[in-house]
Amino acid sequence: MGTVSIIALDGPAASGKTTVGEALARRLGYLLFDTGVMYRAATLMALRQGVAVEDEAAVTALAEQMVIDVCPPTVADGRLYTVLVDGQDVTYAIRGPEVDAGVSPVSAYPGVRAALTAQQRRIGSRGKVVMVGRDIGTVVLPNADLKVYLDASVRERARRRWLDSQARGESLALGEVLAALVRRDQIDSEREMAPLRPAEDAMLIDSTNLTVGQVLAQILQEIGRRQATGCSSPEGLA
Ligand code: C5P
Repeated sequence: MGTVSIIALDGPAASGKTTVGEALARRLGYLLFDTGVMYRAATLMALRQGVAVEDEAAVTALAEQMVIDVCPPTVADGRLYTVLVDGQDVTYAIRGPEVDAGVSPVSAYPGVRAALTAQQRRIGSRGKVVMVGRDIGTVVLPNADLKVYLDASVRERARRRWLDSQARGESLALGEVLAALVRRDQIDSEREMAPLRPAEDAMLIDSTNLTVGQVLAQILQEIGRRQATGCSSPEGLA
């Protein structure tokens, strides 16, 4: 049969996963599930409740209790989805700089990962989904039908993030954005549990010099190839 139903899209911060994932999900008519929102929501709740992000036990207890929902947009303001925590809309609040700064340490806590991974697996295993994250192909859904690892040079990723911040009217310096990215990459790659790394059978794409359209075309071509042949191993190994 060879239907590609569960797609794992992993990679470092600002590698283009969400943009590519959104385009891919729209093209296939699949759900886009950006798992980073869960770690962001846990971080936001800690900040709002005055819990220090360094307090592992308290942050873990929060992550275990909160109910996170990711649903289709509830407001037509250009958002890709709505994120609710205990029924409250936090779609934009989870993108703030305090959350950016705290989310990597929070996501390194094993108890937080265990709680959120279970929720992600439940949603992802229903299929017809593009799951975006850091450990989807390696830990959350190792049986995904297609695993893509999207990367780009750190300078290019910083440049993209900086352009996004300019478009939002923020006045961050490129150097600041670069330093924050390097710090997040380091924490995400060096943590003990589910570190950022490509799955052995992932399709690797370096998007440093590619447009979103070119990345999308490569993925769609691979999906077409697998659906035609029924193969599920990566290019070169099939
Ligand atoms: O992708 P995004 O920047 O929204 O992710 C925020 C943070 O959440 C990442 O820096 C990473 O620390 C964490 N994360 C993770 N595992 C995932 C998704 C995100 O550890 N599957």
